[in-house]
Amino acid sequence: MLKVNSDYCKLPGSYLFSEIARIVSDFTAARPDVEIIRMGIGDVTQPLCAPAVKAIHEAADKLSRAETFRGYGPEQGHRFLRDAIAEGDYRSRGIDVSPDEIFISDGAKSDIGNIGDIISADARVAVTDPVYPVYVDTSVMAGRAGTLGADGCWSRLVYLPVTEANGFIPPLPEGKVDVIYLCYPNNPTGTVLTREQLQPWVDYCRRHGSLLLFDAAYEAYVTSPDVPRSIYEIPGAREVAIEFRSFSKTAGFTGVRLGYTVVPHSLTGLECDGNPVSLHKLWLRRQTTKFNGASYLSQAAGAALYTPEGRRCVAEGVKYYLDNAALLRKSLGECGLKVWGGVDSPYLWVKTPDGMTSWEFFTYLLHTHGIVTTPGVGFGPSGEGYIRLTAFNTRENTVKAAARLSLQ
Ligand SMILES: *Cc1c(COP(=O)(O)O)cnc(C)c1O
Repeated sequence: MLKVNSDYCKLPGSYLFSEIARIVSDFTAARPDVEIIRMGIGDVTQPLCAPAVKAIHEAADKLSRAETFRGYGPEQGHRFLRDAIAEGDYRSRGIDVSPDEIFISDGAKSDIGNIGDIISADARVAVTDPVYPVYVDTSVMAGRAGTLGADGCWSRLVYLPVTEANGFIPPLPEGKVDVIYLCYPNNPTGTVLTREQLQPWVDYCRRHGSLLLFDAAYEAYVTSPDVPRSIYEIPGAREVAIEFRSFSKTAGFTGVRLGYTVVPHSLTGLECDGNPVSLHKLWLRRQTTKFNGASYLSQAAGAALYTPEGRRCVAEGVKYYLDNAALLRKSLGECGLKVWGGVDSPYLWVKTPDGMTSWEFFTYLLHTHGIVTTPGVGFGPSGEGYIRLTAFNTRENTVKAAARLSLQ
């Protein structure tokens, strides 16, 4: 009989969101009178910016005529978009990233999952706990995680707890790891690291020849001046870090699909059979072999976001969600709850009151207020005792949820 990749068999079912969906549907069946407000899922609610929509229409028109039709584009992405990104997201902010260090993709999740292709199968991987589950699950699929223990931890992964006790500042790994995943502004906790707090991570990676995989999916939400929007704001990062970015949460592209990854030419210090190797070259080889580029329609839409009108619209959209976050933060605080995040991030991380577990508080908020959240423990063992709320709902629903919470 055919043998499958046994690493996939090690993965427990993705119970978290399906379990939540089941509980919520049981609740609505029993209590049809309660109007549910969903603050659990990380998907956006606001429509696309007008310049992006216009660009998609125009791109579709081009594809409809023989004279302007386009087929395959470059695997790395169209030059018009890579130029716009290099200028708009980096050079205009004084950050050194060139267009040919940028790889356009159909979203950050694909790249975050695929990057493992160019990393040795026995690499030691460190993740924060709680964590965006993709880093852990893709490490399991690649056979790097070992076995799952009763404590919810994988035997070969190094966990870096982020909790109230350490002020949500992860400790550096003890000893040497090969790969570190960091996500800032953080999903799920909504917390950030300042430039000063990120420097030791870059220094650690330079010292140990480790690779820093930096997920900046929420960079557009940064409002605090001492918090960087890119890892390349940190001196030395160009030698150790790959940065992932997405248009999903910043421009409502969760359905359009567009992201990009920066692999600097100066990313060296890694080796192949004892010889130094350029990760940029390996990633280019990987992409040209296994990927045929993001949709022309998506790339046209993405480029439209870098026009003055596009930029204004993206900034308004981000502000809309940040205002939602501020509303939630205020009403949760007024209830006497401890809250993190929601300032440089669309996520709020809330400590459960009276020593309740994540699931107990989840159930309480559902039954008492009709509000759906995500139990923190679903993001890792150190998430126990917290829940996550998102600011991605509509203003109307967010105002309603805030009012219900203040009735407590
Ligand atoms: C949503 C999200 C992404 C990426 O999403 P794509 O839609 O695939 O671009 C990446 N990282 C984190 C932490 C996210 O929350």
